[in-house]
Amino acid sequence: MKYVLVSGGVISGVGKGIIASSTGLLLKTKGLTVTSIKIDPYLNIDAGTMAPTEHGEVYVTDDGGEMDLDLGNYERYLLTSLTREHNITTGKIYQSVIERERRGDYLGKTVQVVPHITNAIQDWIERVAKIPVDESGREPDVCVIELGGTVGDIESGPFIHAVSQLQRRVGKDNFAHIFVSYIPIVGEQKTKPTQRAVSDSRSAGLDPDLIACRCEQPLEDGTIQKIANMCQVEKKKVIAVHNVSTTYHVPLLLSKQNIVETLEGLLHLPSIERPAERV
Ligand code: ADP
Repeated sequence: MKYVLVSGGVISGVGKGIIASSTGLLLKTKGLTVTSIKIDPYLNIDAGTMAPTEHGEVYVTDDGGEMDLDLGNYERYLLTSLTREHNITTGKIYQSVIERERRGDYLGKTVQVVPHITNAIQDWIERVAKIPVDESGREPDVCVIELGGTVGDIESGPFIHAVSQLQRRVGKDNFAHIFVSYIPIVGEQKTKPTQRAVSDSRSAGLDPDLIACRCEQPLEDGTIQKIANMCQVEKKKVIAVHNVSTTYHVPLLLSKQNIVETLEGLLHLPSIERPAERV
């Protein structure tokens, strides 16, 4: 199993969901079977009790799960049928750990965020990633995980710890991290918020392999070069994602910047013989 984590910094609503689904779609065009998991670091068990005026509409999965609307994006982009298990929330993780604690499963141990919550997150991801989600019935080759919120939030802390441990658990060849950042324009394209956010992500134990930069305008070459220099990544690993008229253009934007080839290099993706499914 290969994992592609999409996290983000600077501001919320930076485009992590669209970049995650677009990346999944491009991997699918290579014949890979792709699944996705959305992590929402809030205490609600699911989106069913959340006001649509605040949070957007609730997306209902085939098993009746009331989910974050990003799950709908994933199903539409990847032609999959996800379950309630594909949306992990802080509430669900705590509920499962507390139920185990009440059953006595921890054998008298003190139950703590690290390692019990963080292990529960990793186990949940590894278990759900294997669930077949499309008509082929195959176990997926790749799981795209979107970590909601922004790196540095108190709420995201246990999840960041968990995915950084997951990276060590599964090995670097099986785990790539796309960090989505925002480039504000104040007279010129400003890279400082991205530099800070990348540094915060590194301090939290998550080194970005690719930095996707959302900007209202196409990124200038000088901006890309500066991010590469200041964040110490190769220039080809800085992906520019400017505002487009429809988000269905984002896969083309990523494809033009060879994101799949870069991920193939990072993850040593299996060469797939089977023909790509219609996407
Ligand atoms: P996040 O997952 O980071 O919260 P989303 O992927 O849900 O962000 O995107 C937030 C909003 O921005 C959505 O309304 C989405 O349609 C829009 N959006 C994302 N990327 C782009 C883009 N490149 N151009 C225009 N709109 C975009």
